[in-house]
Amino acid sequence: MPLVLLQATVIGDELALSWNDGSEAYLKLEPLRRACPCASCQGEADGINPVQKPVVQYRPESFVLQSSVLVGNYGFQPTWGDGHRTGIYAFDYLKKLYFAGDPESKKGCCGGHSHPSH
Ligand SMILES: [Zn+2]
Repeated sequence: MPLVLLQATVIGDELALSWNDGSEAYLKLEPLRRACPCASCQGEADGINPVQKPVVQYRPESFVLQSSVLVGNYGFQPTWGDGHRTGIYAFDYLKKLYFAGDPESKKGCCGGHSHPSH
């Protein structure tokens, strides 16, 4: 079953995503914007030189999600408060960002605490 984004809602400074596999993800808007996959944010490989990551000037409104659309059945395209909207986040990229963001909190119920044995 391909991964499909069912819902994307901004809650505070986070984007709450719900997926067709029943899972949810919460992504902070600021790192989400910084992870924008478009060429003007991440650079473009020319096949000769290593990718040079461009210097992007962010403003406070750069981290405000103004609106968003789904692209086909594979991507999520946000429009940011500064008008930037060329980044299309593939669904599996969004998932990856979520799991890369805070692995500590996703280890399970007890996060390394020891349970007293019964
Ligand atoms: Zn971008």
